[in-house]
Amino acid sequence: MADAHAQLASAIDHLGYETGMHRMLATSRRELMVSVPLRRDDGSTAVYSGYRVQHNFSRGPAKGGLRFAPSVDIDEVRALAMWMTWKCALVDVPYGGAKGGIAIDPREHSLAELERVTRRYTSEVLPIIGPTKDIPAPDIGTDERTMAWIMDTYSAAVGYTVPGVVTGKPVSLGGSLGRASATSRGVANITLMAMASRGMRPERATASVQGFGKVGRDAARFLAAAGVRVIAVSDVDGAIYDHRGLDIGRLAEHAARTGSVVGFEGTESIDPRSVLTLDVDVVVPAAVEGVITEHNAHQVQASIVVEGANGPTTKAADSILRERDVLVVPDILANAGGVVVSYFEWVQANQAYQWSERDVNDRLEERMTRAWHDVVDYAGAHDLTYRQAATALAVRRVTEAHKLRGLYP
Ligand code: NAD
Repeated sequence: MADAHAQLASAIDHLGYETGMHRMLATSRRELMVSVPLRRDDGSTAVYSGYRVQHNFSRGPAKGGLRFAPSVDIDEVRALAMWMTWKCALVDVPYGGAKGGIAIDPREHSLAELERVTRRYTSEVLPIIGPTKDIPAPDIGTDERTMAWIMDTYSAAVGYTVPGVVTGKPVSLGGSLGRASATSRGVANITLMAMASRGMRPERATASVQGFGKVGRDAARFLAAAGVRVIAVSDVDGAIYDHRGLDIGRLAEHAARTGSVVGFEGTESIDPRSVLTLDVDVVVPAAVEGVITEHNAHQVQASIVVEGANGPTTKAADSILRERDVLVVPDILANAGGVVVSYFEWVQANQAYQWSERDVNDRLEERMTRAWHDVVDYAGAHDLTYRQAATALAVRRVTEAHKLRGLYP
């Protein structure tokens, strides 16, 4: 949360807003903490802590992912909710920001237990979610199946099917074509524009990717498809390296089969920490927050860092990278493709009409390109980093909406 607050403070300072506005933007509009009891398969009962934080509604209903991870706490969820507000404003989708989570390790539970815990959490937060209130989506440890359970629980409670209550649903339940890989597609679009801005050609460039989940796997795949040599990839269990470039398609099959990238044929095992500091042109952290810190920022050899994950670079590391002229593309820009296509999914649910995948991908690329140019132009005009520029632009848009609506009462 300290990093999120510091970024906001720097934007407020740049924009010259008064203290009252700063305090309002620094505070969540609504926070709900719930206990989530679970009947385990062996008959025993466990209780987990769950959260839903809605940071801002000025531009529309709240929107944000649901995370299942042992590290989840109110502080983390608050920071992620605030970043969602900026992200939605930056790519100009009509939402405020939210985030939710349960402090649970999904790898330690059966599918049946995960379903029960998801349904119970949904019923606990039910009064504050809904297609016009707050719309969850997948994040770390959750997926389209989780979204289907939420939609079903919500629909059962209200008495009719409500596809627009979540995004990132299975396509057969009204999910959008292209949503599953939208975040990664956006990460790849942005990476290629960042490379072009530094005069790099994809077919001559190398990259490493931390995290091989929903974001990292397809980001690696799209980069490889564009000609970039992805030479190292990691996940929570370890890291692998091949200087010739990894075959991402086969690696994805290996990871799906074994549960990890580790042990992929023909690759070398390396220290997972080194994935961020290898001699590559581009590093894509796409796992968890706080991984580039003052301890390793000096060792980053890449000239571009594209934040697939939320909050992977600490404030101290950000300053070090700036001094070293490493281009950092901030999370609220780099990984915004997910929320853009979530917005498309919500529009399709409300219209009850499905767009083609090509339509979705073209419109996604158009939005990402527009946001990229907005940030680059603003940063250039005001001598800011891309993170400062992206945050300032987003804060300005949210504040403008707030001022137009006025403070009630
Ligand atoms: P996921 O659960 O699908 O994958 C996470 C991956 O990170 C897994 O491969 C896991 O093994 C790996 N991992 C976990 N801890 C690690 C560690 N310490 N070192 C290396 N690897 C580690 O989650 P995801 O949806 O891919 O989300 C990844 C990040 O992207 C998160 O920060 C999330 O908030 C952000 N994000 C996700 C989306 C989305 O659409 N899924 C959208 C925007 C941002």
